[in-house]
Amino acid sequence: MKLAFDNSYARLFERMYARAAPTPVRAPALLRVNRALSERLGVDADALASPEGVAVLAGNVVPEGAEPIALAYAGHQFGSFVRQLGDGRAVLLGELVAPDGARRDLQLKGAGRTPFSRGGDGRAALGPVLREYLVSEAMAALGVPTTRALAAVATGELVHRDEALPGAVLARVAASHLRVGTFEYFAAREDREALQSLTKYALERHYPGARPSDEAGGEALALLEGVIEAQAELVARWMGVGFVHGVMNTDNTSIAGETIDYGPCAFLDTYSPARTYSSIDRGGRYAFGNQPRIALWNLTRLAEALLPLLAADESDAVRLAEGALEAYVPRFEAAYGEVLRAKLGLTRRGADDRLLARDLLERMAAGHVDHTRLFRRLCESARTPEADAEVAALFDDPGAFLSWAEDWRRRVADEPGTADARADAMRRVNPAFIPRNHRVEEALAAAHEGDLGPFDALHAALARPFDEQPESAHLAAPPDAEFQEHYRTFCGT
Ligand code: AMP
Ligand code: MG
Repeated sequence: MKLAFDNSYARLFERMYARAAPTPVRAPALLRVNRALSERLGVDADALASPEGVAVLAGNVVPEGAEPIALAYAGHQFGSFVRQLGDGRAVLLGELVAPDGARRDLQLKGAGRTPFSRGGDGRAALGPVLREYLVSEAMAALGVPTTRALAAVATGELVHRDEALPGAVLARVAASHLRVGTFEYFAAREDREALQSLTKYALERHYPGARPSDEAGGEALALLEGVIEAQAELVARWMGVGFVHGVMNTDNTSIAGETIDYGPCAFLDTYSPARTYSSIDRGGRYAFGNQPRIALWNLTRLAEALLPLLAADESDAVRLAEGALEAYVPRFEAAYGEVLRAKLGLTRRGADDRLLARDLLERMAAGHVDHTRLFRRLCESARTPEADAEVAALFDDPGAFLSWAEDWRRRVADEPGTADARADAMRRVNPAFIPRNHRVEEALAAAHEGDLGPFDALHAALARPFDEQPESAHLAAPPDAEFQEHYRTFCGT
C-alpha cells in the first residue's frame, strides 16, 4: 500500500495536535470504495480494496509515511464557546499530494479514542458514515465544494448509542480540516505564535493566489478576506440546492470553504426558509433561510480570533476586521444572485433579477412548492410555455405561478440564445436528483439490514444529478406531506 504522504501540519507546532494512532477494529470489511476519487488522488483503488488496503482504511495498519494526529480546535456551538473540542473520533493519517499537485487530508473518522475524546468512544455508527458518504458525494456531483468520501469500512464491532449499532469508519478527504474553531482555540489561549503560524499556513495552503500586504497584519487580513469570500460562495451554493447543514457551529466551518460534517444535514423538499430538521435546533438558529446570516456570524468569530494579528493597536485591528466583514453581504448577494440567475435561465445581468427571483421564492413558500421539482420543471417551461401548466400544478394556487411566469418571460425576452439552448443550460444547473431525505433514510435502513442495494442505486443516480434517469424517477420524487412534516435528523455521533 503506497501512499504519497507529505505531512505539513505535523511539522507545525506540536501543541496544535496530539499524536494519536487509530485504534484497530475486530473485523474490518470494505463497504464501498470511491474509485473515481482514488484515481484523482493517484491512489490505486484495487490496492485500497485489497485486504491490505482495508486494514489501512479501518485503522488497523498505519501505512508508511502516515503520521496520525488528532487536531486541536475549539468552537462556538449554538452560540456558546467551548474552549476545547478537537478530533475526538477522527485521526488525520496524513496529507496526500495528488498527481495534479493538490494537497488533501486523508482522515479516518470513527478511528477510536484520542486525547480529545472527552467522554466519547471515538467511534462512528454505520448509518452516519454511509450518510456522509452518500451526501458528500452528491454535493460534489452537484458542484458544491465539499469534503469527499474515499471509502467506508465496517468494523465488525458494535457502537453503543441509544441502542447498539454496527460500527464503521469513513475515510474522508478534505482540502484540509482547518476550521474557524482551530483559530479560536489558539486565540482563546492567547497563543499568538501558534495563531501566526496557523495563519501563514492556511493562507499558503488555501489561498495561494492572495497577495497579502507587507504590513504586519497583511497575512491575517488576506486570510480573513479569502475565507469570507469562500464561505459566501459556499452558502450561496447550498441555498441553490436546498441544502440545510443543520449544525453550522464554528468548529464545522471550514477555512478552505468546503462543506464539512454531515451530521444532521437535510435537503428541502417543500421550499420553506424557516425549515429546520435537526432535533436539537429548537430555536431555528440553523434554519435554511438563516444560513447566510449564520455564516457571517461564524466569520465574525474568525475575525475576532485574528484581531491580535491584524494590527498592534486594537481599534485599528477592529477597523480592519469590520472592513473585511462588510464585504460579506454584497459578496453573498452577488453569489446567490448568480446562482438564482442561472436557475432562471438568465445569462445577462438585469437590475430587477433579484426581485424576480425573490418573488418566485416567496410564491413557492406560500404555495408549498417542492424546491427541486419547481426549478427542474421550469427548464421545460423555458423551452415551451406549453409546460407551464405542469409547473403551475405544483402550487396550491396555480395562478401564483402563471402570473409570475409573465414577468419571467418578459425578462427572458432580453436574453440571447434560443429557447432550446436556454432549457439545456437550465438543466445543467437545476438538478433532477438531490439526496431526498426519505430516500437517504431508506438506503441507510436497508444497509443496516445488510443490503447495500438501495444505497448503490441512490449513489448511482446522485452521481449524475443533472441527467434525466427515467428508470430512477422514484428517487427524484418528493416524499408525502406526512413524512415531510415529521422528518427530523440527529447529530451523527
Ligand atoms: P460534531 O458534533 O460531530 O461536530 O462533534 C463535536 C465534537 O464532539 C468534536 O470535538 C468531536 O470530535 C466530538 N465527538 C463527537 N462524537 C464523538 C465520539 N463518538 N467520541 C469522541 N468524540 C466525539
Ligand atoms: Mg464537527
